[in-house]
Amino acid sequence: MFRVSHYLRELAEAERSGQYPLPRRRGAEGATAPERRAAPSPAPAPLGGGRHAAGGAISGPVVIWNLIRRCNLTCQHCYALSADHDYAGELDTGEVFTVMDDLKAFGVPVLILSGGEPLLRPDLFPIAERALAMGFYTGLSTNGTLIDEALADRITATGFDYVGISLDGLRATHDRFRRLAGAFDRSLHAVRLLLARGVKVGLRYTMTASNAPDFEPLLDLMRAEGAPKFYFSHLNYAGRGNIHRAKDAQFAATRAALDTLFDRAWDAAQRGLDEEYVTGNNDADGPWLLLWLQRRHPDLHARFGEALRQRLQAWGGNASGLHVANIDNLGEVHPDTMWWHHALGNVRQRPFSAIWPDTRDALMAGLKQQPRPVGGRCAACQYLAICGGNTRVRAQQLTGDPWAEDPGCYLDDAEIGLAEDRPRVPLSAFGSQRTVKVPVVAG
Ligand code: SF4
Repeated sequence: MFRVSHYLRELAEAERSGQYPLPRRRGAEGATAPERRAAPSPAPAPLGGGRHAAGGAISGPVVIWNLIRRCNLTCQHCYALSADHDYAGELDTGEVFTVMDDLKAFGVPVLILSGGEPLLRPDLFPIAERALAMGFYTGLSTNGTLIDEALADRITATGFDYVGISLDGLRATHDRFRRLAGAFDRSLHAVRLLLARGVKVGLRYTMTASNAPDFEPLLDLMRAEGAPKFYFSHLNYAGRGNIHRAKDAQFAATRAALDTLFDRAWDAAQRGLDEEYVTGNNDADGPWLLLWLQRRHPDLHARFGEALRQRLQAWGGNASGLHVANIDNLGEVHPDTMWWHHALGNVRQRPFSAIWPDTRDALMAGLKQQPRPVGGRCAACQYLAICGGNTRVRAQQLTGDPWAEDPGCYLDDAEIGLAEDRPRVPLSAFGSQRTVKVPVVAG
């Protein structure tokens, strides 16, 4: 996740005071990837697993937990390929609680409870209440269509730190994406019910070519509704998102959308508005912010561009397998939500705390390596230290090689510091999902 507002608020502060602010400690949503890769370890460190915080506690990754695969919707871009029926073999309440104990001991700071539609899980609230009581920052990721007054009251009483509700466009677009007439009205109603109760609500938007025209109106909607957070997700190549990749927004549209988002976030930062903008699934957004500053605000770039670059390098870009983890509905652990075709182990057989640091898995060894062993234009890119080589699953899905260049990078060769344009991996090189073979080293 790239926290656009975090950097632009610092920049706004620098513009006001003439001094670039000292790095702020991150909140519950965690430290930067390089901090986590490079932190000194007073005690034997888990292999690439985490950072020792003050007092010796190990800080583990943010865990996105797909507690249930069932969903009342069948969205076009769903990475979980969910449908409205039960799936056998999901973790029961007791198993979830056991895993939570292990996650807590491992220093996991954040649980994002997701699905499927997590509100379809009958024990969702006991799980969330326990997570909150244990001190996890606890988020809920929902399509919002099931949230009526009573459920809004229950969500509010539970005390979720954050609720993300997906909106893929305005009414017609959203209903088409969600394959349900009335879905937009129901989700927006949920946003309003929760905001009225003081819950921190964010809009989640995944951009493709066919919903790109709704992006700016959605930003306007966010501001009009008073929602404090907007999550812009680039389309990735997993689940139904993989099937639809040929329709992925082209690079020019992506660049334009990011400019719009940065302009909006900059406006909010300068005015001190309580609006937070974040992006996900394309870590080239970090370098693009630097390039945006150079183009849009050359005076500020001249004064603070180097400070911003250093701050972005401290972030370090893609955090799959490092700072972000995923547990699916069956208990399989993955480097992130887009790697459901690559399981690292199951929490029923082995604790998460043992699975996560285990670099006998070659994919995890590479993800935890710094710099990552990327090839192609990523290897030669001047921004590799900022973006971390971007989204490895996209490289794997389109080439079969998880360490190939990321075909979804929307920066051109001149921007990344290459003298001449060179052939690139096309965005739709393959017609079907490919599975990487990652050997397990005996040990
Ligand atoms: S070329 Fe690769 S390393 Fe450079 S910005 Fe693009 S994705 Fe990141």
